[in-house]
Amino acid sequence: MANMMVIGVDIGGTHMRSALVDSEGQIILRRRTFSENSSGASRATERLIQECRALMDDAARLGGRVAAVGLGVAGKIDSENGRVMFSPHLPALNGHPLASELRDRLEIPVVMENDANAFGIGESWMGAGLGLDNWIGVTLGTGVGGCLFLGGRLWQGDQLGFVGEVGHMIVHPDGPRCACGQNGCLEAHASASALLEGVESAASRGILAAGPLFDFWRARKLTAERVFHCANQGNAVAQALFQRMGWALGLALANLFRVLGIRHAIIGGGVSSGWDQFIIPLEKSMSQYSCMLDIGVIDVRRSVLGDDAALLGSARLAVNVVN
Ligand SMILES: [Zn+2]
Repeated sequence: MANMMVIGVDIGGTHMRSALVDSEGQIILRRRTFSENSSGASRATERLIQECRALMDDAARLGGRVAAVGLGVAGKIDSENGRVMFSPHLPALNGHPLASELRDRLEIPVVMENDANAFGIGESWMGAGLGLDNWIGVTLGTGVGGCLFLGGRLWQGDQLGFVGEVGHMIVHPDGPRCACGQNGCLEAHASASALLEGVESAASRGILAAGPLFDFWRARKLTAERVFHCANQGNAVAQALFQRMGWALGLALANLFRVLGIRHAIIGGGVSSGWDQFIIPLEKSMSQYSCMLDIGVIDVRRSVLGDDAALLGSARLAVNVVN
């Protein structure tokens, strides 16, 4: 019998990353392409099918066979019916039966999950969540995603299409506007978008008027990485934005730990590379809001799998389907 392999796919707003993975979680081959989100649902689906077919051909060349595909997609996901309900960063896919169409075209099982849940499944399988029963996952990217593991399992709530959305916990009701339409969400303080909007606000109010951070902003070349770099170089505006990020994360986690009676969190996503700038403010904030919490036993960890967490989590979902 041919070697069983699966495909894991992480679909983001601009890029789609996919990998051929064996049942032990070893990545055999990777691919990366544009997600074609702006060209509409059918182009995006065709691109995904092309990527999967290319990996299925690779698997056959290696004497293997792809048994299932797992998809991680940002947004509200109807896993049961294989449909994207609502995706703020992939609007073309809103309402689109992405997983069921893929299943019909490829004629193999296809499962789909929210990307932050996929991140959690990946970290739980072979990352920072290995051996942990109860923990909160937070992904810091363009937005802020979250997942919850309770009793060793991904918490699914009442199957409403969303769960563990820590990014939209309100940490400051009079705070900045969030992409979801509310004011003061964690996401509006702790995401790449929050960093960029914070710089925009400082520049438009004249608080930031010179230096490399200002130059990046003026040239429209600002990225979260550049804000981090400027914070490391001592820029006060950039440092204040990371302090605000740490403050908001510490407040949100202190509240969640207390409500759930748990003490572990794993932070991942691209913006977690700013860890050195936000972890001390996070710990300070958590101490400040620590009523009932024993700070000494709190354990906030950094993702081990980095960019591969959601990819491997999606692959794990596919492995579970065939096992
Ligand atoms: Zn929000």
